Amino acid sequence: MIFVLCGPGGVGKGTVAGRLIECVENLSLSRSWTTRTRRENESASAYVFVDEESFLSKVADHGFIEYARFLDNFYGTPLPEERFFGCESHLLLEIDVQGAKQIRELIASAKIMVLTPPSDSELERRLRVRGDDQGHIAARVALANSEIESALALGGQRFINDDLEAVVAEIAGFIETCIGDCHDH
Ligand code: 5GP
Repeated sequence: MIFVLCGPGGVGKGTVAGRLIECVENLSLSRSWTTRTRRENESASAYVFVDEESFLSKVADHGFIEYARFLDNFYGTPLPEERFFGCESHLLLEIDVQGAKQIRELIASAKIMVLTPPSDSELERRLRVRGDDQGHIAARVALANSEIESALALGGQRFINDDLEAVVAEIAGFIETCIGDCHDH
């Protein structure tokens, strides 16, 4: 099955996604490509970091199931392997709301989970702690609420990232229920 974890940048999708992979069986994390430069303290395997030419060449080769431009950079999800379309192996996409919209149109069975911050001020604080470019923080907070609304309009299930352990347990429970339903049908 394909699971999409979306929500505003800085809400903690990366942390939550990493934990979900550890606690849900047979769930793998899709590794996106991006033209963004790597942040200090960011793992080299967080993304496939490429220049714009390589990214656009993969777009031309139809190598992405979805891609989007987000704050001046491209991000894209490579085509998932066939095995993720059954009930045994599951893929988690940690992507923005534009990407979630494309997945919703292409894969009717995809489950969309919308991670939201407890408040705007907490989102702003998390972006600062992460060391985001100061000029980008205001833009990211401004985008957040409209992104959340669009994601919920896609039929996404909302999860509030207030307490990490609690939200991971809640989302893991949701994923396991969906997997159980897949086996039952
Ligand atoms: P960041 O630069 O903070 O790592 O990511 C910026 C935004 O791009 C985040 O909301 C992140 O979830 C999203 N993103 C990461 N990978 C992809 C992808 O493959 N496709 C799309 N559409 N968004 C992505």
